[in-house]
Amino acid sequence: MAVKTVRDLDLKNKKVLVRVDFNVPLKEGKITDDTRMQRALPTLKYVLEQEGASLIVMSHLGRPSTDREPELSMSQLSGHLAEISGAKVVMAPDVVGDEVKALADNLNAGEILLLENTRYYKEEKKNDPAFAEKLASLGDVYVNDAFGTAHRAHASTEGVTKYLPSAAGFLMEKECEFFDKVLENPEKPMVAIIGGAKVSSKISVLESLLDKCDTFVIGGGMAYTFLKTKGKSIGNSLFEEDYLETAESFLKKAEAQGTTVILPMDHVVASEFSESAAPEAVDSEDVPEGKLAMDVGPKTVEAVKAKIAVAKTVVWNGPMGVFEFDAFSKGTEQVANFVADCAGTTVVGGGDSVAAVNKFNLGDKIDHVSTGGGASLEYLEGKALPGVVALKK
Ligand code: AMP
Repeated sequence: MAVKTVRDLDLKNKKVLVRVDFNVPLKEGKITDDTRMQRALPTLKYVLEQEGASLIVMSHLGRPSTDREPELSMSQLSGHLAEISGAKVVMAPDVVGDEVKALADNLNAGEILLLENTRYYKEEKKNDPAFAEKLASLGDVYVNDAFGTAHRAHASTEGVTKYLPSAAGFLMEKECEFFDKVLENPEKPMVAIIGGAKVSSKISVLESLLDKCDTFVIGGGMAYTFLKTKGKSIGNSLFEEDYLETAESFLKKAEAQGTTVILPMDHVVASEFSESAAPEAVDSEDVPEGKLAMDVGPKTVEAVKAKIAVAKTVVWNGPMGVFEFDAFSKGTEQVANFVADCAGTTVVGGGDSVAAVNKFNLGDKIDHVSTGGGASLEYLEGKALPGVVALKK
């Protein structure tokens, strides 16, 4: 869905209200990973470069309870924001209210006003119109660069667009561009690699991509429900009985339309789910009694490699195994490397596959590593994201 972008807005002499995803990890008040702040920087810098423009920046941080937990205060980010933006940052004592309004009104060109945690107000998640209007009253135009919360219709992501001219920031634009490209007009052949723990959380993605893909790779714990429908032994591997029929019907549909589905054909198993468990190779589709599959084996990896090597489009969501445990991370690491080496368009979305890509330092070799876990999953499921819909042309 084509969205309006920050370039489409007249920003001259404007106060620009920008929703970012500054939901960064903190330890004792210190930012331990500023990736999310860095990803929003191009939009913030672009606004500050426009003649007479100033910025009002807002984000949620963590999940505050009804109390204003000080450890979730945005004030912990203001110093770092000043450092990376090179601009003067004024820290607001609140999200809305007279004092904040006065600070916004008195903001000078080139300065940033950083609002408090939007989730200090329960009205934020309720998408309360009065709260959204108060937020909107702080700026002249609105820019949303928070893809990570675009699947939620909150006051700062959706409600506010009803009161101000609105557009997407550069990060949001890139996320939409890549997902639209692979979903609406993918270059063929297209390979979807879907892994992770549960069929239940990925079945909608599989269904939504069924008509688009030439090959599916199904790995991770979810693969074992599929193998079970094919009459294979799965030992103590992850299994969702309630999804047996769904898995069977998916495989039948894929077969009927000539779509290849690669399931694990060999495994790395263990006797227990533990980091210190000894890995054992199993050169068979069947998992031995008493063992649980923790990773895919080398034959499976070779089959996946052959498909990725010739793919023009690759979408990846979910690891091939328990990649957090080094002894069971090989399958995911190798697949991640094939994706990185693929000459086609490569998109990785979903929290754990992104974590895997980062663990193996491959982020720079992939065309698009999404910043939104839940949002990217819903995009791939073919759902309309309220935060994106609100910015459409
Ligand atoms: P998801 O969030 O659904 O993408 O699932 C990711 C999680 O699935 C990761 O924490 C992996 O450790 C886990 N996982 C992947 N493969 C397996 C497996 N064979 N058995 C158990 N858990 C797995």
